[in-house]
Amino acid sequence: MGRVCVIGSTNLDFTVRVPRLPRLGETVSGGELLVSPGGKGANQAVAACRLGAEVRFITLLGADAFGDRLRAALVGAGLPDGGLLRTEEAATGVALVAVDLQGRNQIAVAPGANHHLTPARVAAHADALAWADVVLLQLETPIETVRWALREARRLGRTTVVNPAPARVLPLPADLLPLIDYLTPNETEAALLAGCPVGNLPEAERAAEALVAAGAGQVIVTLGAAGALLVSRAGSIPAPGFPISPLDTVGAGDAFNGALAAVLASGAPVEDALLVANAAGALACTRRGALEALPTRGEVVSLLREAHRRPSAGW
Ligand code: ADP
Repeated sequence: MGRVCVIGSTNLDFTVRVPRLPRLGETVSGGELLVSPGGKGANQAVAACRLGAEVRFITLLGADAFGDRLRAALVGAGLPDGGLLRTEEAATGVALVAVDLQGRNQIAVAPGANHHLTPARVAAHADALAWADVVLLQLETPIETVRWALREARRLGRTTVVNPAPARVLPLPADLLPLIDYLTPNETEAALLAGCPVGNLPEAERAAEALVAAGAGQVIVTLGAAGALLVSRAGSIPAPGFPISPLDTVGAGDAFNGALAAVLASGAPVEDALLVANAAGALACTRRGALEALPTRGEVVSLLREAHRRPSAGW
């Protein structure tokens, strides 16, 4: 079993399913409220855990009732307590999510404590990086913390995966790219990072090639229903998606990244990691919510069997 260290955000998500997404200044009512744990860090940590990896998650929660609730949920999901840090300095992160009938979403985030997850706080738990096979990061925590973790992981010889999300915090500082073994943008993020449009497969490939040329080890562009495309100096590998009827695409990218890290940590080849990550991403789209929509290893194995798509190394 592989070991994954995730350093990232945790939010309490308030999700309303609405008939259509509100326009500027508009109120749309009629939905039901779902309150659930979320945040890219938490989602990806739980995704890797459900896929069978041993996971240590370093995150910062407020010393408030939302923080208590999230801590209980994360421990209940199988994450160890040690990295679930608390602060009096800021409130627990919150996300307000609206999802329409086609599964499209609009999200507003109050990051709160997530922006106080400093390098010093993470450095106090640096043993988790030494312990891990793969270190998985996103951009909902301070960029200095991402830089510190990438440098430390590189010094320790660990594999690094960076999901450069959300898109609004881009561009990524250029010095970070050479520290990243696997960079996993979606199409919007790939376009922003590479500074060129990404609306089809050749454009995704060109953007990924530019990022590899700028220093990233391998770039995996996620392509929604079309799956993903891996680009490295050795060339490109397309990884087709799994056909499903999407209900709520919130958390698809998180399921993909957690699964990718879990399979890479197990020592399986990247082709297997892409296959499993696409299956996990597709399954996450078939259910509501983020964290509770993340599939288990058993569910992924069933989908792979149904689709007659087996990982090569018997993952
Ligand atoms: P994000 O959720 O970050 O915007 P994508 O939309 O690219 O990222 O989705 C991440 C992954 O989830 C995709 O690479 C794919 O594996 C899976 N996925 C997303 N949408 C669908 C869909 N409609 N059908 C099947 N798989 C999907």
